[in-house]
Amino acid sequence: MKVAVLGGGPSGAIAAEKLAAAGVQAVIFDEKLAWEKPCGGGLTWKAYSQYPFLRDSATPKKIVTETVLSAPNSAPVTLALDQPLLIFARYDLNAMLLDRAARAGAQVEKARVLSAERGGSGWRLRTKSGDFEADYCILATGARNPLRSFGTELTAADTMSALGYYIPGDRDRIDIQFLPKLEGYIWVFPRRGHMSVGICGKGEPASALRARLERYMERQGISKAGASFYSHLLPCLETPAWKRNRVAGDGWMAVGDAAGLVDPITGEGIYYALRSGDLAAQAILSEGAELAAATYRKLLRRDFMGDLEFGSRLAQRVFHGRFLWGAVTSRMVQFTRLSPKFREVMQDLFEGSQPYVGLKRRLFRNLNCSLVEIVCNLGFGRLIPRRDAA
Ligand SMILES: Cc1cc2nc3c(=O)[nH]c(=O)nc-3n(C[C@H](O)[C@H](O)[C@H](O)COP(=O)(O)OP(=O)(O)OC[C@H]3O[C@@H](n4cnc5c(N)ncnc54)[C@H](O)[C@@H]3O)c2cc1C
Repeated sequence: MKVAVLGGGPSGAIAAEKLAAAGVQAVIFDEKLAWEKPCGGGLTWKAYSQYPFLRDSATPKKIVTETVLSAPNSAPVTLALDQPLLIFARYDLNAMLLDRAARAGAQVEKARVLSAERGGSGWRLRTKSGDFEADYCILATGARNPLRSFGTELTAADTMSALGYYIPGDRDRIDIQFLPKLEGYIWVFPRRGHMSVGICGKGEPASALRARLERYMERQGISKAGASFYSHLLPCLETPAWKRNRVAGDGWMAVGDAAGLVDPITGEGIYYALRSGDLAAQAILSEGAELAAATYRKLLRRDFMGDLEFGSRLAQRVFHGRFLWGAVTSRMVQFTRLSPKFREVMQDLFEGSQPYVGLKRRLFRNLNCSLVEIVCNLGFGRLIPRRDAA
């Protein structure tokens, strides 16, 4: 069987690597191959515990063990990470993944796929350099998937804008800043030799997000000298969209961003890109082309898709909700500072070991203990805010 993998980002590269390693003829088509895809480049413990080569490879990466969380009306808090976050430049990460695919035996073609048409039991792909035939297609073309008849049908409500600057400089910690009335956040991710400073937000125009980011950078003394701007789309599916999500069909499967597989709260997508690419390959290898689509849907749901769907129900409450007279995001920062029990939950969320399903139960189970810790550390009256900062 010949499998065409359309897109050579993390999702496509790993799918091709797994197929080629099992002896399937896999061909990756990517118009750019390795490139600096707009991204923070952060990988959680969840990703490198499942795929240890991410941690063990010699590919340059920053290993970060400290995050500073800030929100309106609360002093910043430093969260030590038991399991570090790895931060890659996307050029390096993509190059490493494509190299692994090639070494496993996949063919890697630098070409833009202009169209993919189903004919008989196979596919005819049109590229600028000629036509190509395949038995099966894996769609890994990212959030801006140009082949609209396959993969997730993203509406405006199912996306968020994400933009920022790559800025020369060095630092060792991550900064996360929550903002009033924004379903999203600002991040400062240190990389080797530069930083990725960015913002993501739902329901707000990119120009407004950029203005928020630039005000933050000015306040923090982060200069734009020598910086380069980036922006991209981030899938962020609403709950109903998870139910109708078009992840597979006759002779094709969609993986990564092209299948909308991004955490609707944190925007984490690299892990889900890798995992879905891996599951797509497993579906073909275990059940063959005919049953692969149905098997893939089952594997996705069993593995992580149910949790992402559940996350989409929590997102509004996290970013716009209120708890004990204050914004949930401010409470998260305050509780992280004042309650060791709550801090453990935040650490687990950061490393990806606490799924959204079960989070509420754990928080309520801990609530008494957390409140006692907070009262002991602070005094309950101090929780009542003056007024959320604008
Ligand atoms: C600003 C921003 C910050 C982010 N930060 C993080 C983060 O810190 N951590 C995290 O986990 N996730 C982050 N994400 C999400 C992450 O970048 C994506 O989820 C991830 O890149 C998805 O991988 P993918 O392989 O599905 O798609 P992509 O990485 O988008 O790869 C798609 C590939 O397809 C190719 N392609 C597209 N169309 C064609 C065509 N017609 N023919 C040939 N090739 C084509 C492109 O050239 C590209 O290489 C961020 C996203 C944004 C926008």
